[in-house]
Amino acid sequence: MPIGESELIERYFRGCGAERADVVLGIGDDAALMRVPGGCELVAATDTLVAGVHFPPDSPAESVGHRALAVNLSDLAAMGARPAWALLALTLPQVDETWLEGFATGLGELARTHAVALIGGDTTRGPLCISVQLLGFVPAGAALTRSGARAGDVLFVSGTCGDAAAGLALEQRRLQAPPEARSWLRERFLFPTPRVALGEELRRFASACIDVSDGLLGDAGKLASASHVGAELAWNELPVSDPLTALLGERRARELALTGGDDYELCFAVPPANIARLLMQLPPQEWRYTRIGALRAAPGAVVVRDGTVMEFSHSGYQHFS
Ligand code: ADP
Ligand code: MG
Repeated sequence: MPIGESELIERYFRGCGAERADVVLGIGDDAALMRVPGGCELVAATDTLVAGVHFPPDSPAESVGHRALAVNLSDLAAMGARPAWALLALTLPQVDETWLEGFATGLGELARTHAVALIGGDTTRGPLCISVQLLGFVPAGAALTRSGARAGDVLFVSGTCGDAAAGLALEQRRLQAPPEARSWLRERFLFPTPRVALGEELRRFASACIDVSDGLLGDAGKLASASHVGAELAWNELPVSDPLTALLGERRARELALTGGDDYELCFAVPPANIARLLMQLPPQEWRYTRIGALRAAPGAVVVRDGTVMEFSHSGYQHFS
């Protein structure tokens, strides 16, 4: 016999996240109560994952739980915020305890890694859909935004790009790969690493930041246009992983780095005056980020290779057919 809703919440979600002293009242009442630290602004984000739209319906439950929180952690990271509290709105077609166990494990492990408490939520019956709301804080006036960059600022991105799009294609069997590359790339889609610590550090150096969820070229373009400038990316500097390059060849790997989604890396702008301090205090080899270009007065986002602008058609771009 399937368990009831309150038993489900007790069993899978009460002990799921981190314990925090600033949670006055967590799961169990009509709403949760938290203490916001003095001198801070509250930062809030929410993102929804719909089965069959944002993840393959047969994805491992651990991955679904991990990604539901990771996408929101990535949004807070892009603001330079410290995450603290999460709410979970869960719509389930049926109570499948094996799935719930995996889902809560994936979500809970990532939540505890980032000291995020699960303070409440809602549980309903319907097509599989997971919506997480994440709250955190940032010192008043210190948040990173998309709009603070100026022409001449240098553009960077963390990690490598394009891996997750290849991982998803492998997961959906639109692409084949040898076992080792396959498992590494799938992992990059199924268990993305939100760059939370980097985001917080970047408050000291960056003029603008965005998280890369829809492809580096498009998201760098969003940062640029919010800052009323343009972006120029260097084709040869785009960070692509060895497994991706070995699988697709250099050209397709770089194209995927520009246009593939679900990377959850940070793309950020740094004023020239801050570059030396950035490189010294956050060594790129340790923090894993790469200089990919610069912002300029002319609007739009372009990729330059050997001095010439490359053409990319976004609309109808097919990675793997
Ligand atoms: P209400 O009818 O007042 O909305 P619910 O029965 O929906 O109460 O929820 C009871 C408590 O359990 C609330 O504190 C709510 O925040 C929490 N809760 C419900 N679903 C979840 C969930 N999926 N994850 C975490 N907390 C949940
Ligand atoms: Mg409710």
